[in-house]
Amino acid sequence: MKVAFGDSKVATADGATPVVEAAGVRFKWRRQDAFELNIPAFKIDPRERVLMIGPSGSGKSTFLSLLCGIAVPDAGEIRIMGTSLTSIPGSQRDRFRADHLGIIFQMFNLVPYLSCLENVLLPLGFAPKRNERAGGKAGAPAEAKRLLDRLGLDPAVFADKPASRMSVGQQQRVAAARALIGRPDLIIADEPTSSLDRDTQLAFVGLLQEEVAAAGSALLMVSHDVSLSPMFDRVVPLKDITRPVAEAA
Ligand code: ADP
Ligand code: MG
Repeated sequence: MKVAFGDSKVATADGATPVVEAAGVRFKWRRQDAFELNIPAFKIDPRERVLMIGPSGSGKSTFLSLLCGIAVPDAGEIRIMGTSLTSIPGSQRDRFRADHLGIIFQMFNLVPYLSCLENVLLPLGFAPKRNERAGGKAGAPAEAKRLLDRLGLDPAVFADKPASRMSVGQQQRVAAARALIGRPDLIIADEPTSSLDRDTQLAFVGLLQEEVAAAGSALLMVSHDVSLSPMFDRVVPLKDITRPVAEAA
């Protein structure tokens, strides 16, 4: 089935369409006059692993919200797999996000009373294409357990455990499995390692990267830890892609 939104191209899996293309993006939070994000151009290629760095409060999470379509730019355009997020209505944007993006939030945002397995399967309920790629109703639970296992959580022990009873490090792995299931085109991770010690952090990023590569996804991770740089194809300081507000007029 082909789905086209507005004037946008149909997303292709041929590797030619950039996963992310942002052009002329400007954004201000309401009643936050001091802060404006102004990004003339930014691109992520298929399978590319990008580390974004920058000081606290500089707009990294805001930029990720724009890429996810959770916030909408005041000007400019954001395309994910060739589809313009700015030209599709909110309800389609939600489904588009669920189909194409896997998101690891800073606080993980697991549903505390659901089990690990239920948390991992959660995004598939809103994402028909991704659900199909994960094996559909019959195959997805096995795929979820495979991912938990690969990320170091034995499904025999953890699958039925409520998320609220997991340690921070374990919750992070569940959040990673939830982002990876159904091979979305892009995994977005907002400082997912900030609450971990260094060894745990390196091990987590290593595992995440292996599974990102296996899924054929691209990865955009935000971190303040530049020592992670060698594990990525490209390091992007946010200030290098933004134009200061003063110059922007
Ligand atoms: P970073 O992730 O780099 O620490 P943020 O994107 O969180 O930076 O914040 C950039 C600016 O936007 C800050 O001034 C912050 O206060 C503001 N901001 C972030 N989120 C919101 C929001 N939901 N509503 C209003 N202002 C926000
Ligand atoms: Mg942030």
